[in-house]
Amino acid sequence: MKKITLLALITLVLFSCKEADTTAPKIVVATPQQNAAVKAGEELCIQVTFTDDVALNSYKINIHPNFNGHAHNKIGQTSPGNTIDFETTITSESRNDKLSGKECFRDIDIDISDNATTGKYHLLIYCTDLAGNEAYIAQDFSIE
Ligand SMILES: [Zn+2]
Repeated sequence: MKKITLLALITLVLFSCKEADTTAPKIVVATPQQNAAVKAGEELCIQVTFTDDVALNSYKINIHPNFNGHAHNKIGQTSPGNTIDFETTITSESRNDKLSGKECFRDIDIDISDNATTGKYHLLIYCTDLAGNEAYIAQDFSIE
């Protein structure tokens, strides 16, 4: 009997949490523009506003090569020579920069290494709210 009551309580709590916020945050990127170009050795300037109807929690930014026009379940190709296929991931945790409230603006510069292989890249920006709903945007850019 006690077990059943506890189970009912847990179910109720889980149900209540789920009811609270099921809407993913919104991500609006001011820069870079779609298909922007940045030179190897320079910075990619990212200006982004995150909003949520209840409460924001975290973000993640990932950059990876798109030399082969891949879909996201494929592995990027490596290239020979003295350049590296630039790839980086930063998170609000790694930057000790947790999001909070309903709206947050971030201005984040990412150093593109000067030996980065030139070509097409993907920029992915993820945002998660306090209830765990995650949204992302994907943009194309190139390193010249
Ligand atoms: Zn990609």
